Amino acid sequence: MAPKKAQVGVVGLGVMGKNISLNLADHGYHTAVYNRTPHVTDEFLDYCRQYEPAWQFVTGFHDLESFIQGIEKPRRILLLIKAGQPTDLTIESLLAFLDPGDVIVDCGNAYWLDTIRRERELRQRNIDFIGSGVSGGETGARFGPSLMAGGTLEAWQKIESIWMSIAAKVDPVTGEPIEGAEPGKPITWGEPCAARVGENGAGHYVKMVHNGIEYIDMQLIAECYWLLKHLLKLPENEIGQLFASWNQGELASYLIEITADILQQPDPHGEGFLVEKILDVAGQKGTGKWTAISALDLGVPANSLAEAVFARYMSGLKQERLQANKIFPDTHTELPSNKSIFQEQIKTTLYNAKICAYAQGFQLLRQAQEAFGWHFDFATLAKIWRGGCIIRARFLKKIASAYEADPELANLLLDPYFSAVIQSGHTAWRQVTASAVLNGQPIPALSSALAYFDGYRSATLPANLIQAQRDYFGAHTYERIDQSRGRHYHLDWSGDRQERQVVE
Ligand code: NDP
Repeated sequence: MAPKKAQVGVVGLGVMGKNISLNLADHGYHTAVYNRTPHVTDEFLDYCRQYEPAWQFVTGFHDLESFIQGIEKPRRILLLIKAGQPTDLTIESLLAFLDPGDVIVDCGNAYWLDTIRRERELRQRNIDFIGSGVSGGETGARFGPSLMAGGTLEAWQKIESIWMSIAAKVDPVTGEPIEGAEPGKPITWGEPCAARVGENGAGHYVKMVHNGIEYIDMQLIAECYWLLKHLLKLPENEIGQLFASWNQGELASYLIEITADILQQPDPHGEGFLVEKILDVAGQKGTGKWTAISALDLGVPANSLAEAVFARYMSGLKQERLQANKIFPDTHTELPSNKSIFQEQIKTTLYNAKICAYAQGFQLLRQAQEAFGWHFDFATLAKIWRGGCIIRARFLKKIASAYEADPELANLLLDPYFSAVIQSGHTAWRQVTASAVLNGQPIPALSSALAYFDGYRSATLPANLIQAQRDYFGAHTYERIDQSRGRHYHLDWSGDRQERQVVE
């Protein structure tokens, strides 16, 4: 018999809310659901009764007060609603009915500074607040997402068991995601892809960086497809088959898997493949942009993360690109001569560039923890991304191992495994990049990742000249390599050309 009260409440029955509710129900949690527009709740309940084995675990409400009264204390209330002002408005409406000790869990894609503010404001009203990143889209929400929670330990302990139950699971031996969940038959074994990653906004920050990495991962894959299509003239289905074969090795990942499938999809309305008929203008919801802005704010050289966002903006200039293409038509000067060698080189390039993309993401997280007072366990972050989420990938196991071996690792490129991969792969990467450039093919992500690698491995950079220029026009001073760090000098460029030490 169902208990009088639900164990958890879900506000918002959009794509994510419905699926998280069903996931909770499948795991035996009595779930109260509420949606601002009541008929959505009714339709969901009808659907549950018709199709869902665990329908009895879901109870719907049309008004907030009875919804809240229908949940056992301390109440656990998950918000799966549009991020931004709707979240503030909904929290305000909930507060009228909540009691001290209840916990609100914002599962939307909130801006992490909003989460820090909300956590602080709610703490003053004795309400716990968790900002939890949820990744994996509709299917992840339904059968096991990756969950990145931020909040106090006390708040976390109120939702920990739920988060561990509904999260994606990976096989503890192989580290691979456990597939095969079905309605009414959830996965109940394995390592959960869920963790408390830090205080207040840490969960939403980690989710944001996850999305930034997702942008770059997608762009890298798209550029490899482009080179295979335009330099090797391979048809879409053959590229799809090639990606499917890459999905068996170190590149194995959800994004490669779906790309292989997408590329082999015929156009349902005519000749050729669907992907060729899709307009080349990429949309975005803003989390990639937030990641790039945060990298700029924190002084982290995450150039590829930014390039992935700029590439989407460039795609948006469709009309101007068409115009410019009439003035600067496509050129093919030097197509690669050996197909199979070039394919292999692109595969190597993709893996190398991907390592640099993740290196940038983790470098950003390192800097953010300093700035916001968090203490990330980077191995755990890599582990909870192994299943459920969009960037799930076999090589995250390697990242987890790198940070387990050295939790203070400054950059993934310094890890022995990753440095060996790039040592043996960067020549191929350079050849692919050169070939793309010679043939006029835009590869902002692949080439910026190479620039990142070359910048990071360079003992010296031309920043000496930048400093001299800055001193020339703005008396901004410079340090000398033959003096200790921290001593600043200025040369009187327009006067006697004497150098003086500047003491601040
Ligand atoms: P949907 O657009 O499918 O649903 C939006 C939900 O928000 C609806 O329940 C809607 O209620 C509610 N809502 C909108 N405005 C308000 C408001 N002013 N007050 C109260 N409720 C409101 O969104 P998703 O389910 O896709 O996403 C929900 C959250 O999860 C978002 O923050 C999103 O960024 C995040 N997310 C989404 C992922 C995805 O793949 N879709 C993945 C990870 C996170 P109503 O029916 O009344 O309009």
